[in-house]
Amino acid sequence: MNEVPTELVEVSHWLADPELDAVILAEGNVSQAASESTFWVKASGFQLGSIAANGFVLVDANPILSLFDSNLSDQDVKDALRSATRVGAPAVPSVETFMHAWLLSLPGVTTVLHGHPVPLIAIASHPDAPKICANRLFPDEIVCCGPETVWVPYVDPGLPLAKAIRDATVAYIEKWQDFPRTILLGNHGLITLGTNLPQAKAAFQMGVKAGRAWTQALSMGWPNVLSSDSIARIAGRPDEHHRQRLLWAAAASEQQ
Ligand SMILES: [Zn+2]
Repeated sequence: MNEVPTELVEVSHWLADPELDAVILAEGNVSQAASESTFWVKASGFQLGSIAANGFVLVDANPILSLFDSNLSDQDVKDALRSATRVGAPAVPSVETFMHAWLLSLPGVTTVLHGHPVPLIAIASHPDAPKICANRLFPDEIVCCGPETVWVPYVDPGLPLAKAIRDATVAYIEKWQDFPRTILLGNHGLITLGTNLPQAKAAFQMGVKAGRAWTQALSMGWPNVLSSDSIARIAGRPDEHHRQRLLWAAAASEQQ
């Protein structure tokens, strides 16, 4: 439990691959559950492209989650993050640790990836972003990214953003009875979730592709989107679940 998972370091480098065009400099962050109540998260100031095991800290989730309903100063937030760090201090967890802690507390979620892919920044700044999130263009978008993307209008990073993500995600779970695979942050970027790392990676990969498809389609006007019946059918079909597993396995083997 006290060692950073190799796959977390590897997926960090993958997110910063220039071909993906998702993360440069110190952008983005990743996290993975280490136990019921602890998780690994990128430390503040490290770059995903060059990060090694010493760029991650092990954080206690419960003290972080207990701060959600309090109004803290910036200094209180820093102190709280520092005191929740178990392994990796004196490095300080990323300010986005709040949203990682909450998302990792959802049943079934073990991995959270976050970055700023160019096509998704374009969509996240589009006036129709909420409508785009509620629609799907092609079947594999549903298979990897779920039936809908959670939309979160722009909020300042840190605790305010984590609270906005929580509220929007709770509404999604009430509707779909499952956790979302993709969350789009207004004027900001993409978060993906998975039961394991390959799922979160496949959602990111397909999310970027879907972002490109949407930007191209929107340049010609509002596209023909899949009907809600088709979305529900694909999201629930056993053969699509089989397809889902194949895509996740491919994402995992690509990583090795
Ligand atoms: Zn970000």
